[in-house]
Amino acid sequence: MEQVDTAIQTSKLLRSEQIAEGTMAFHFEKPEDFQFKAGQAIDITLVNPTETDAEGNTRGFSIVSAPSGDDLTIATRMRDTAFKRCLKAAAPGMKVQIIGPLGSLTLHKNATKPAVLLAGGIGITPFMSIVRQATFEQLPHQLYLFYSNRRPEDAAFLEELQSLQQRNPRFHFVPTMTEMEHSQRTWDGEKGLLTGEMLTKHLESVHGPIYYIAGPPAMVAALRTMLSTAGVDEDDIRTEEFAGY
Ligand SMILES: Cc1cc2nc3c(=O)[nH]c(=O)nc-3n(C[C@H](O)[C@H](O)[C@H](O)COP(=O)(O)OP(=O)(O)OC[C@H]3O[C@@H](n4cnc5c(N)ncnc54)[C@H](O)[C@@H]3O)c2cc1C
Repeated sequence: MEQVDTAIQTSKLLRSEQIAEGTMAFHFEKPEDFQFKAGQAIDITLVNPTETDAEGNTRGFSIVSAPSGDDLTIATRMRDTAFKRCLKAAAPGMKVQIIGPLGSLTLHKNATKPAVLLAGGIGITPFMSIVRQATFEQLPHQLYLFYSNRRPEDAAFLEELQSLQQRNPRFHFVPTMTEMEHSQRTWDGEKGLLTGEMLTKHLESVHGPIYYIAGPPAMVAALRTMLSTAGVDEDDIRTEEFAGY
């Protein structure tokens, strides 16, 4: 991942909570001089963890909180690795090392171009920060967020995103569920994978916006191909490699 104006700093865990099934958010103290742009990421290194494995003690995470927020929050699916077991068991006060900010999946400046944010599962993280900050700053950009999850149970931040839509008239939220047959909840929104037809239904035009994609690698690849096939310029499609989850 691209590294710009980064620093190594010490921070500590403030609190953690479950935000969807098998999914947790971790709030860390924001070092006083730490500055970042919405959409950027940090590497977190556990200091003296109680266990470790071949995947190591460092992991990259998008920052979920907005730059205007008080803390540095990350969110992740709780897979069974030493790193995530340590994080899950950690008590408030646990020290970590933070490197960042990293990456450039940040909102373009030209507000005449809409931003179309395509999120799969916990790939919602960089876009939470972008939508929260855009609402805080009352940015003039039109923001379209398409958010694909298997079930509402898996969809982190669903209610907050619905309420952000009420607060920000330029934010258009299109959640879709791909496995409602396994859900205990009801759902009257979109169903099925993100497709060109779904984009066409909700966008004024598929040509013109800048597209941002975050989610499972297969989804990122499939959506890139779909956009290219629809004639979207490569320069208007932005994503970043995130591996090791
Ligand atoms: C820029 C970026 C930032 C990221 N930031 C983080 C982070 O901060 N924290 C973190 O834990 N992970 C992060 N990731 C990792 C990434 O989101 C995970 O690899 C991914 O989310 C896997 O798990 P999931 O359980 O969320 O997805 P799943 O629940 O498996 O899938 C999510 C949705 O994508 C759909 N989908 C899956 N495959 C396809 C396909 N081929 N075509 C269309 N739709 C498909 C599914 O149907 C489902 O609706 C990031 C990835 C990127 C690219």
